[in-house]
Amino acid sequence: MSDCIFCKIASGEIKSDIVYKDENVVAFNDIAPQAPTHLLLIPRRHVESLQDLSTKDRTELVSNVFEAIGKIVATKLEGGNGYRVVLNQGPDAGQAVPHIHFHLLSGRVFAWPPG
Ligand code: AMP
Repeated sequence: MSDCIFCKIASGEIKSDIVYKDENVVAFNDIAPQAPTHLLLIPRRHVESLQDLSTKDRTELVSNVFEAIGKIVATKLEGGNGYRVVLNQGPDAGQAVPHIHFHLLSGRVFAWPPG
C-alpha cells in the first residue's frame, strides 16, 4: 500500500534497523522500544489488521510470522527466561499502525496481567 509506513520499511523505501527478513516477513527494531529487545514482525504483504485476515492468511501469513519468531528466538534473542509476543488489534488496544504487526519483546520481566 503506497502510503503505509510498514510497507515502505518492508520495501526498503524507508530505512529501518532490520534484524531478519525472508520472502514473506520482515523484522526490525521498534523505534520506541518498551524492552531491551523490542522487535516488530510484519508480513511483506499489506493486511491492515487481524480482522482482515482471510482463512488462508490465518494458516499461511500467521504461520510465516511465527516461523520467523522461532528463528529469531533461536538465533538472535537472549530469551532463555522468556519473551512476549503482542498484537494490538484496533484503537482500543493501541494499534497505531494499520499494517498487521507482532511485537516481540524480551530482556526484562513483564507484568501479567498487562496494564
Ligand atoms: P502499535 O501501537 O501496536 O500499532 O505499534 C506500532 C509500533 O510501531 C510502535 O511500537 C512504534 O514505536 C513503532 N514504529 C512506528 N514507526 C516506526 C518506524 N519507522 N520504525 C520502527 N518502529 C516504528
